[in-house]
Amino acid sequence: MSQLRIACLLAPMVDTEGPMDVVDGKVLNGPKKIMGKYGEVGLEAAITFAEENKNCVHLDLLSIGTSKELKALQQNAIAMIQPAKLPGTLAVHALELDNLSSLDAFAVGDLLFGMIDRLEKRPDLLFIGKDSNDYCHGIVGTYLAAKLQIPYFTGASVVALDEGFQSVTTTFNESEGKTVKKLTLPVALGTTDSLNGKDSARFTSLKGVMMAKKFKRNILSPSDLGTEATNRTEVLSAEEVKKDRKNQRISDGEGAEKVSAAMNILVNVDKALERGDSAGTDASVDKQVDWSGADSVDFSGSIVLLADHDGHKVRLSTSQALTPVKKLSAETGKKVTLVVCAENLASLGASLSAVDVDRVVGLESSAFKHATGMAVGSALLKLFDQSKPDFFFTVANDLGHDTAAFLASRLGSSFLPGLSSVELDEGKIKGVRIVANARYTTTEKALVDGTTQVASFRPTAFDPAAEGQASEFIKVNSVEIADTKSALLEFLAGVESSGIPLAEAKTIISGGRGMKAKENFAHLEELASLLGGAVGGSRAVTDLEWIPHNLQIGQTGETVAPDIYIAIGISGAIQHLTGMNDSKYIVAINSDEEAPIHQHADLSIIDKWENVLPSFIEAVKETL
Ligand SMILES: Cc1cc2nc3c(=O)[nH]c(=O)nc-3n(C[C@H](O)[C@H](O)[C@H](O)COP(=O)(O)OP(=O)(O)OC[C@H]3O[C@@H](n4cnc5c(N)ncnc54)[C@H](O)[C@@H]3O)c2cc1C
Repeated sequence: MSQLRIACLLAPMVDTEGPMDVVDGKVLNGPKKIMGKYGEVGLEAAITFAEENKNCVHLDLLSIGTSKELKALQQNAIAMIQPAKLPGTLAVHALELDNLSSLDAFAVGDLLFGMIDRLEKRPDLLFIGKDSNDYCHGIVGTYLAAKLQIPYFTGASVVALDEGFQSVTTTFNESEGKTVKKLTLPVALGTTDSLNGKDSARFTSLKGVMMAKKFKRNILSPSDLGTEATNRTEVLSAEEVKKDRKNQRISDGEGAEKVSAAMNILVNVDKALERGDSAGTDASVDKQVDWSGADSVDFSGSIVLLADHDGHKVRLSTSQALTPVKKLSAETGKKVTLVVCAENLASLGASLSAVDVDRVVGLESSAFKHATGMAVGSALLKLFDQSKPDFFFTVANDLGHDTAAFLASRLGSSFLPGLSSVELDEGKIKGVRIVANARYTTTEKALVDGTTQVASFRPTAFDPAAEGQASEFIKVNSVEIADTKSALLEFLAGVESSGIPLAEAKTIISGGRGMKAKENFAHLEELASLLGGAVGGSRAVTDLEWIPHNLQIGQTGETVAPDIYIAIGISGAIQHLTGMNDSKYIVAINSDEEAPIHQHADLSIIDKWENVLPSFIEAVKETL
């Protein structure tokens, strides 16, 4: 059996749960650097593979940071590995750099490429933590894999080595469910925050710490690499996010009295929000579009938005992202094309007919089912071969980011992910992003000229664009997709609560570990169906499999912004808040008056849900 070479990228991360600073009005930094969660779970999987396949696995650890940060980070990792137990297995590479925080994701990707390029051999399996200095937007991994010319897959939650080390069998969490794929090596894997059932790496022992002290690391400086590291984006300013919440608390009386006090407030909130039915295009409308075939399409001077859809209808996020796109179009006079990559364009017809763009261009291929950013990106790269658009935009979700980062990498362009505003500054995109677990916003600008500028939009930051009708529907006759050498083995569909996608629900009833058991979610389902809303939850409950993974809200789940978000038995960890803090009105039901969720809620009921929820459901029934 040939030796398997695994490389792990370990980034020293600013601890977004701890104190953070804005340095020079621009750069976000923190006094404490930690091993990024995603890097940590990749490392744990790699160590386990090395232990299970003694003498058959070689492990390279690569990090970039200051000398002090890297010493602490890497010695910790070496202590976990205990190199004496796995002789000849490990090499540790440290690129010492004082100005890491002034480099963007592309510049970091350039340096990592330089480090990998000078390894004795290139890795077969590369674990790339999704978190890096681009705040979980996954640019580093996509860019690096594109430079290394290997496929990149994000969202891996389970990975197993296949016999003979020619492939890995990997489970991915996707918005519609889970896919199990066989991936031919070499491959780069972006992990989630838990891999193979572990959400952290092992503890270090005293023995491991002693081994780490003696272990000789390979210390590098940028001049050793012979690679240029070039920023493609610039941070202009950074500001702390301050949400104006009402923080009303109801803590006195019996459960029913609290509910009555809460209902008095909520009835007025409901009126003030002028809530209608849950949004979304009715895919049952029998309105198909007439596609005309074309071998090629002229994109020069235009704006392209990539449609976000579920295979049956265009998601609300597409019309939300269309709002800033139309603003840019009005300012520049450039025409807007919606590009749709789908397994079956006909099944999307009804919802496509309501999108107000100048034209719709459709690409159809079976490879777009459970597609990766590389599959979609490579098809678009081919589509733009003859004429490139001036701007390319996606919705800020995993597929949108992976596609945009792939295209930007290949087009030599910049990528501004997750914008909540957009304008042009001397012809270059400038916008505001939410970063560091929604604790800060940064204003950033693209630096690259002369090619397509790429950005994604945080959908919940925008109201949906008005409906309209494109005047042209063009179906591209032949679609070329890069071979990612992967085979789909299984698809486990997720479920939507009450049939309303979380991102489109105007009311979300969200449960946490405090719900105590899977069957208690029936109360939340009942409340959601009374209010025409959807059920979601924290990662604690998706990990416990009380609700499916695709209903998780937060940093590694869905980002939602309903009119009313009711958090029940949820503590309000920063990673959860990231996904729901844009909600218009937040209600918390939690028995612990110190729980952080209360500081982020407009209305808090301090009690056990068992005392409150039955009366709450009855009160809602009476009010309706
Ligand atoms: C990299 C990373 C990414 C992450 N991504 C996400 C993410 O996307 N989404 C997410 O949610 N988390 C995420 N997490 C996990 C997050 O840090 C928290 O662990 C998680 O949100 C906690 O879930 P919880 O609030 O349900 O559970 P807990 O923190 O255990 O809180 C349970 C709450 O229930 C309350 N409670 C207990 N009993 C009752 C009762 N009878 N009635 C009322 N209240 C009660 C308690 O007071 C407590 O506040 C991530 C973590 C990391 C490190």
